Amino acid sequence: MPLLKDDMPLMKEPHPSPQAPLPWVLPSLFAAFNVVLLVIFSGLFFAFPCRWLAQNGQWAFPIIAGLLFILTFFSLISLNFSDPGILHQGSNEQGPLMVHVVWVNHRAFRLQWCQKCCFHRPPRTYHCPWCNICVEDFDHHCKWVNNCIGHRNFRFFMLLVLSLCLYSGAMLVTCLIFLVRTTHLSFSMDKAIAILVAVPAAGFLVPLFLLLLIQVMSVSAAERSYEGKCRYLQGYNPFDHGCASNWYLTICAPLGPKYMAEAVWLQRVVGSDWVPIQTPRFPTCPSVPSPPAFPGPSTSGSLQTREGSPRER
Ligand SMILES: [Zn+2]
Ligand SMILES: [Zn+2]
Repeated sequence: MPLLKDDMPLMKEPHPSPQAPLPWVLPSLFAAFNVVLLVIFSGLFFAFPCRWLAQNGQWAFPIIAGLLFILTFFSLISLNFSDPGILHQGSNEQGPLMVHVVWVNHRAFRLQWCQKCCFHRPPRTYHCPWCNICVEDFDHHCKWVNNCIGHRNFRFFMLLVLSLCLYSGAMLVTCLIFLVRTTHLSFSMDKAIAILVAVPAAGFLVPLFLLLLIQVMSVSAAERSYEGKCRYLQGYNPFDHGCASNWYLTICAPLGPKYMAEAVWLQRVVGSDWVPIQTPRFPTCPSVPSPPAFPGPSTSGSLQTREGSPRER
């Protein structure tokens, strides 16, 4: 144990605010509405001002905007359906009253017991009240995509913010150039659509740019959005490895094992020949040296029986 143990206070993770989880229907509809909105505005943008520019030999605008739209749409859909780093459910048998302490870069963290998920949360793991899950390396819950932003999908989030910034800027510039080049023409549907697209593009550009700036600063300092409200790190961030290393760990480093996939794999239905433990097909006497062989898959079937046995007793 390091000598600094007595000098360092035990750091508590922030307590989640007591908010009642919303029904999943409305947030999901809002996330789907945002995707539809992006497609509708992009369709109008490409069908009117972009079409006019392409017909007049200005192919660069539709091509660049089209590539940025593909990037934005891909990152938005990916973020909607991505796994943010969900940690699977534990059980009360793990001991909610036990105290676990881990050290990160000379800073002690007392692991908090999650009453919903029934395990001691690792540092920087947070229980999202909207999704009702614990997320590894939690950053925030994004209502625009109705998903948590955490360890496994933070890269998609950064890609989405960046691509949205560039795409909004490209739409705004294209519409303005179109309006300038058609000043000698009378008011038409093309001009009306260009104004209709340019106004929300300009309105989103500034907050998106600010959000991108904040995220860049957070990644550089290895900070997380939800930590800013709590200030529990008290000026010293043990997760900060330096700007270059922080960016590498956030954007490029391997993500590690997928805990949710492993939990689903262990709990899968193996086959019709699986037999629950209430109806044993061999004597339960401990003196029996070995049970008779089961037909079918043996390794995975034994995992199922062991997993299910504590709840079935
Ligand atoms: Zn939890
Ligand atoms: Zn969430």
